[in-house]
Amino acid sequence: MPVSGLPPYDPQNIFARILRGELPCKRVHEDEFALAFHDIAPQAPLHVLVIPKGAYVSAADFHATAPEAEIAGFWRAVAKVAKDLKLEEPGYRLLANVGHDAGQEVPHFHVHLFAGKPLGRMLG
Ligand code: 5GP
Repeated sequence: MPVSGLPPYDPQNIFARILRGELPCKRVHEDEFALAFHDIAPQAPLHVLVIPKGAYVSAADFHATAPEAEIAGFWRAVAKVAKDLKLEEPGYRLLANVGHDAGQEVPHFHVHLFAGKPLGRMLG
């Protein structure tokens, strides 16, 4: 069920098509819960997207409706990507856009992982 105020999940969105293998991606990590791949238009020296395998429109939808095992598995995958890419030092940034005002373009929940340079302050 969609969360109130959110559009229903569109199974033709780009990330759903990547998950189904209909569109290519530069894969960084994949497991039962998540797929991580390089952003097509990187905004930092390293810009990876991590998406859950389930059909969730946004972080709001995901955290309100996903089973706890999926939520834990997803966030463990995010941490594993950062660890495997040796980003814990000097650090990295996680960001999730939710809805119109945040500029969310792709209606499948995703976390951006930025790294590779000092990222400065970003307070909106
Ligand atoms: P949003 O604005 O929804 O938070 O971020 C969507 C991100 O998906 C953008 O950074 C955009 O560059 C990326 N993106 C859009 N289409 C594709 C695609 O087909 N492949 C990949 N790898 N990234 C994409």
